[in-house]
Amino acid sequence: MSAEIGLVGLGVMGANLALNIAEHGFPIAVYNRTAETTAKFHAHAGALASRIVPCKSLDEFAAAIRRPRPIIIMVTAGDAVDQQIAALRPLLSPDDIFIDAGNANFRDTMRRSAEFNGSGLAFMGMGVSGGEEGARHGPSIMAGGLQTSYARVEKVLTAIAAKYQDDACCAWLGENGAGHFVKTIHNGIEYADMQMIGEIYGILRDGLGLGAAEIGDIFARWNKGRLNSYLIEVTAAVLAAKDPRTGSPAVDVILDRAGQKGTGRWSVIEAQNLGVPAMAIEAAVAGRNLSALKSEREAADKIYALPAARLTPADRSAFIHQLEFALYAGKLSAYAQGFAVMEAASREFSWNLPMATIARIWRAGCIIRSQFLDAIASAFPASGRLSNLLVAPEFVGKMKESVPSLRRIVADAANGGLPVPALSASLAYFDSYRLGRGTANLIQAQRDYFGAHGFERVDEKGAHHGSWNASA
Ligand code: NAP
Repeated sequence: MSAEIGLVGLGVMGANLALNIAEHGFPIAVYNRTAETTAKFHAHAGALASRIVPCKSLDEFAAAIRRPRPIIIMVTAGDAVDQQIAALRPLLSPDDIFIDAGNANFRDTMRRSAEFNGSGLAFMGMGVSGGEEGARHGPSIMAGGLQTSYARVEKVLTAIAAKYQDDACCAWLGENGAGHFVKTIHNGIEYADMQMIGEIYGILRDGLGLGAAEIGDIFARWNKGRLNSYLIEVTAAVLAAKDPRTGSPAVDVILDRAGQKGTGRWSVIEAQNLGVPAMAIEAAVAGRNLSALKSEREAADKIYALPAARLTPADRSAFIHQLEFALYAGKLSAYAQGFAVMEAASREFSWNLPMATIARIWRAGCIIRSQFLDAIASAFPASGRLSNLLVAPEFVGKMKESVPSLRRIVADAANGGLPVPALSASLAYFDSYRLGRGTANLIQAQRDYFGAHGFERVDEKGAHHGSWNASA
């Protein structure tokens, strides 16, 4: 049997992606550095085994795929990708395509794309979201590289991708690093979304004194309304789960120290490189970093010994309703920030990123999937270009409706000593963005005073200096 496509790396993601491809009728050749993994994978593939060609060597692998060969590389991001490419490259022929489907830093993808330029081989960087379950039954696929390369694998990719009302959550987004950049920002938004959900959980747990199951019920209810999304669904499910060992709510036996693999940090770094504020994403990454300081936090808790935070709203159910709207406003602001970073990157790297398409392919398959992304997709004008979602007419109405709740919740949380870094960053971003006259005039005056950096005047063009000593 000649395979239509090849896949290297049968870890969690690669194995599931290979089964997904085989299930959609495409014969696939697979190879893994550790050969026993390949054999085990094939032995457990059940009825799909007949469409899978397990290969013990790279020579065997290259020979098993019909030319021109598309080869998905799904190994640990970083050096492993370069090593795998170096090992395979001498065995390939003109027009074969390497598709790096791991979580690569888009700068590595830019470098690898440049290295392949003029080589006769093609290189694609492809973001795949949805974790293990997504890889097996339908991920969201963010492809980058030459459009001609994408055209050659489009049939397979659209077949295996998640579907939102029959639309495949898969698209070509632009050349070289575009797909991996968009995947990075997807993860940055995911960090912000999860952090804000965590902050609302904190208000319900520590501010109102509710137990995990009660909070889970609230999230389950919210999942039927404007907040409907995979992350809210997951939140409700984990809050309802019990620890089999103690019978306590599972979340209560989990240490409050969050892990991270780096994509959130990359989105913040790239936002900073582009000079674009992404305050909620920055706060979310900082929140995870702070969570890692467990022993320092415990020591500081003893030093300050502040009374436990308690909020006593006059109308509890109205307050919970405001929490729902506050989270919604926080999300709107955070998504606007993520899309603004992509807009700036699109200009910087000449990608012409299709923003509405990005929102569409995030509607299913990926971790931040939600109906809400459908509204974002339709908020973009036909031209596709928009400086910021906050000024899209559909967003303006939603923000006007929900920001008062965000304001109230952030204020109450601050008064009660409950940390809400991402929610307050979302509010601060909104308030800073919608303010025509801010306070940078004072910064300019300070900079001119101590460094003669000059400033612009409101009433005259050109560079000016103040006569600070004269007026002192
Ligand atoms: P994994 O389960 O840890 O598997 C890693 C795979 O990489 C294994 O097949 C391993 O082969 C191979 N590998 C590691 N170093 C190698 C090297 N130097 N040369 C050749 N092969 C090497 O990882 P995973 O979760 O599937 O993740 C794969 C990629 O997908 C990563 O970039 C990850 O960030 C990304 N991703 C993961 C998720 C997720 O939810 N897990 C979601 C989206 C994207 P051996 O069996 O020989 O060790």
